[in-house]
Parts: sequence; C-alpha cells; structure tokens
Amino acid sequence: MPAKLIKGDEVAARLREEMAAELEDLYEETGRVPGLAVIIVGEEPASLSYVTNIEKSCVSLGFNVQIHRLPVDVAEGELRRLIDELNFNSKIDGIMVQLPLPEHLNTHVILEALDPEKDVDGAHPVNMGKLFSDEKGYIPSTAHSIMRMIEFTRQPLYGKSAVLIGRSNIVGKPLSLLMLRRNASLTICHSYTEDLPAICREADILVAAIGKPGYVKGDWIKPGAIVIDVGVTQIDGKMVGDVDFAAARSVAGWISPVPGGVGPITITMLKWSTLEAFKKRIAGL
Ligand code: NAP
Repeated sequence: MPAKLIKGDEVAARLREEMAAELEDLYEETGRVPGLAVIIVGEEPASLSYVTNIEKSCVSLGFNVQIHRLPVDVAEGELRRLIDELNFNSKIDGIMVQLPLPEHLNTHVILEALDPEKDVDGAHPVNMGKLFSDEKGYIPSTAHSIMRMIEFTRQPLYGKSAVLIGRSNIVGKPLSLLMLRRNASLTICHSYTEDLPAICREADILVAAIGKPGYVKGDWIKPGAIVIDVGVTQIDGKMVGDVDFAAARSVAGWISPVPGGVGPITITMLKWSTLEAFKKRIAGL
C-alpha cells in the first residue's frame, strides 16, 4: 500500500482555524490585531515570492502586515535603523528578516539587532539559546512546521530513530533539539557523512533538507518510515523535493509531497508565533 500523504494544506488549515477563533475573541476583547513586519533586501525571485505569500496569508487572517522592501545595496546602518524603529513600534509584534542577505551585510549583526521578544522566526541568539536549554522561546518556522507534520501522523516520537539530512540553523539544528525534547534518538547528516544510504535505512523518521532534487532514493527508506521532504528546487518552473517521491512512497508509511508539504505550513507557523507575541504584548498592557 502506498504511504499516506502528509498534506501541508490540511495541517495548515487546521492551525488557521484554531488561530481564527482565537483572533476573533482577542479582537473583541482588545480591538487590536497582531502585527508582523517582514524585511526583504534585494529581489531574489524565491524570496520575493515567499514574502508575497506571507503578505497575502497575513491579510487573509486579519493581521496587520508591513513588508519593507529594501534595495540590494542598502547600507547596514539603514537596515539597523529600520529594525530599531520596528523594535519600538507598538503595533508590531513580530519582525522577520528574509534570508539570505546580500554579502555586504553581516547576517549575525542584523539578526542580533532584533528584539528577541519580536523575533518570531527564532533567528536571534537568545531564542536559539532558549531552544538549546529547553526554555520557551520562538522557534524557526520551518523546524516548527516539521514537528507539526509529525504530530499530524499521530505516531509517537519517543524511542524512535530519526535521521536528519542537513544541519542548517533554520532546519536541521533546531529540529534536532525539538526532536530530542520528544525523546527521539537523533542522527544528523551533512555533506561529510559517510554511507548516507545505510544511515537512512535505519530511520523511523527521515527528514531531508539538502536542496538536491531527488537525492534520497526509494531504497534508502525503511519500510513504514515517516518521510518529510523539506527540499525545494525549481526545475523548468516546477518545484522538486529532495526525495524521489514515487519510489519512496511505495516503501514509506507516511510521506510529505513537494509542492504541498512543508511549504504551506511554514507561513502558518510564522503567524502562529506572531499571535503568541501579540498575546504576550496585550497581556502586559
Ligand atoms: P542549507 O543551509 O544549504 O543546508 C543544506 C544542508 O544539506 C547542509 O547541512 C549540507 O551539508 C547538507 N548537504 C548538502 N549536500 C549533501 C549531501 N550530498 N549529503 C548530505 N548532506 C548534504 O539549506 P537549508 O536552508 O537548510 O534548506 C535546505 C532545503 O530546504 C533547500 O532546498 C531549501 O529551499 C528548502 N527549504 C524549504 C523550506 C520550506 O518551507 N519548504 C524552508 C526552508 C528551506 P554541509 O553543512 O556539510 O554543507
């Protein structure tokens, strides 16, 4: 039997329903809505399209959303001044800086300029530290989304063997900490890992976040495994994942498609965190 699909739209729709009900109650109580500011530098097509989708999605849920589009050669000082303004703007609960930034900008310096209380995409070192030390903080939206997808399968994580391919700050590293919290046993793989297929064959949960289309083959999958394909590469105008979907689906128990897997949930989780920041702000008024 082919693997069951983990459909991002379905997972995201459930989360949006929960948020919509809460937003309505909060608006009735306070007359306020959550505010999210997104900063994008330059015109890289994938980033522009992601930010446009954030804008549409926030508007449809009644958020106050501001998109700050800056030229590719913006000076670091100017970008930092904008972040300072947004840090002090009482109508803005969350700020996200779209990455990657152009090379002349120091990404660490820019992310450290964010107020950690408004860093809803979990990019500030304070929030990374909280994740490391099991404290409540903001989590990178992609890693957060992957956890929601695994919850959707209703399969327990404890005691399971999870293999993550990719060790980036937005996927592999934060996800490994989230999975450890749930008592999974982790193997994190990267470009220096030897015999990746053999490691993958032991995985009850396999997450591929590489950025190499079709890299993970069907015979790398353990029968019945949960397979989450994070990778997105554009080929001839089509989005292609890291996993050979057709071959993997015939072996796995659950699998997420590309497109229609992680992507739709990521923006929802960004809004989720912005709503959390908003609730904290109005609780403190
Ligand atoms: P990244 O920073 O480029 O990281 C890629 C990781 O893959 C690195 O850790 C790299 O290892 C590892 N890798 C590369 N070649 C490998 C190989 N042959 N074997 C094993 N590991 C290998 O990328 P990212 O930002 O995490 O994103 C990964 C993919 O996910 C991209 O396709 C991106 O577009 C997609 N993505 C999708 C969403 C979504 O919402 N759907 C969100 C974020 C990212 P080294 O560390 O050794 O270089």
